[in-house]
Amino acid sequence: MMKRLFASLALMAVATTAFAGLHSGTVDVRILAINDFHGHIVQDRFITKQGEKIPVGGAAWLTSRFRKIESQPPLALIVSAGDSVGGSPPVSALFQDEPTVEFMNMAGFDAATLGNHELDEGYLEMLRLWKGGKHKSSRYYPKPFPGAKFPIVCANVVEERTGKPILAPYSIHWINGVRIGIIGVVTREAKTAVAAEGLKGLTIADETEAINKWADHLGKYGVHAIIALVHEGGEQKPENPTGVISGPIADMARRMRPDVDLIISGHTHTNINGFIGRTLITQARNYGAAFADIVMTIDRGSGDVIKKNALILDATHDDLIPAFDVERMVANYEALAAPRVNKVIATLKRGYKRNDGKDALGAVIADAQREAMKADVAFMNSGGIRSDIPEGVLTWGHLYTCQPFGNKLKAIQMTGAQVRKVLEQQWRTGADGREESWMLWVSGITYTWDPKALPGSRVREVKMADGSPLEDAKTYTVAANEFIAGGGDGFTTLADGKVIATGGTDLDALIDYFSAHPDPPDASGRSRRL
Ligand SMILES: [Zn+2]
Repeated sequence: MMKRLFASLALMAVATTAFAGLHSGTVDVRILAINDFHGHIVQDRFITKQGEKIPVGGAAWLTSRFRKIESQPPLALIVSAGDSVGGSPPVSALFQDEPTVEFMNMAGFDAATLGNHELDEGYLEMLRLWKGGKHKSSRYYPKPFPGAKFPIVCANVVEERTGKPILAPYSIHWINGVRIGIIGVVTREAKTAVAAEGLKGLTIADETEAINKWADHLGKYGVHAIIALVHEGGEQKPENPTGVISGPIADMARRMRPDVDLIISGHTHTNINGFIGRTLITQARNYGAAFADIVMTIDRGSGDVIKKNALILDATHDDLIPAFDVERMVANYEALAAPRVNKVIATLKRGYKRNDGKDALGAVIADAQREAMKADVAFMNSGGIRSDIPEGVLTWGHLYTCQPFGNKLKAIQMTGAQVRKVLEQQWRTGADGREESWMLWVSGITYTWDPKALPGSRVREVKMADGSPLEDAKTYTVAANEFIAGGGDGFTTLADGKVIATGGTDLDALIDYFSAHPDPPDASGRSRRL
């Protein structure tokens, strides 16, 4: 009852301002935002509240939640700050992530920007997915997939030759009689995070400069309520509106034109809700487990945002009913994917965790790749491991969810000195002067390192699997996925080696390895901190 009364009061308020004339008073606009959804259309996330495990997210539930919010004023724009797709579970990934775009169409998204993962398969496939086009893995094939019904905006992925953006840099939305401009950008990190070939002929320009340029352009056309969808992030400590926001997004906000009212960030999978100067910054974790509910109050006369605030809400299901149309679409894709997803690979005696520890999955993956490529050494990046592997029945779906990128394996010839340099590249100084560590999983070697030594000279003793020392002048064969083999995650030394063979995918290697070794040998303790 209270809710309904509130709704009609709000309606009256809108009606009154409209009556007072088009160019006076204020109007509220709501923005519902997600980031880093990564194709999680099937509900698979939980939060713990008072010791109770509560489901959150899922495309049909999110749609239902958004529709309920949209059924009451103020009118809302729904947006995604990138990584909507990529690294997705098989139900979306097996169909080139078209199911996720279908969900976004059905849920009524108004705009989205690119994340680095939208570019995982190169920019041509990115354009096909969002703008429409044929693909053999599509449910629509041989007909073209229709693409997104809303604009994909990105101002800083530009042609090297002309400097022109390959997508519309911004979109303009008329809502409640006011105009809102949405500008998108993706992190420059996308350049190192995407296999180099996928971005041939393109540059990723400075994010803030791109936003400022187009904000200025929008201002000249009288659009003064401006939202930046920025696929770059940071963190906030403590996680509440008074917490301090740090990281790249904070630096960007400080350099941004003051008429950018709201930054919807992503990429770091954290909760952010606070101000830097007069700019509101939000981020709502990942996988549709949470969303940002933002309200901006806009002056009708000037078009300026005069007030804004946000809540980061868990996408709990409460008393909702999942949106039937989306639920049916997802169920259809699940049925199509089931025969592949449920195929049994092995029965495991124990489970494997992504993070460090005795049953570290990364080292097992490195072992699988070393075996597949018949190499002396293998390196595996942590970012390429997307889930744990449970004990018991192991299916194709489990392994796919763990290694979804379909990276091909490379065998690279390197000297012992280069192998050592790859290890040294695990520790570096970031752009902001802070030290970063990018620990690799290794196979075929063990090593010790000294955290007190300077980055670049930390590695001490490196031994081969047979206990003999790594020799600087000797040539070794190194296995790695094509992403780090091409210098990804900053491992440029791997790109200095000579590629002597290209194998199957990382996923194939892992499937073969677990089929051959349902109880793999202990892979722990290969790097030891002194
Ligand atoms: Zn990202």
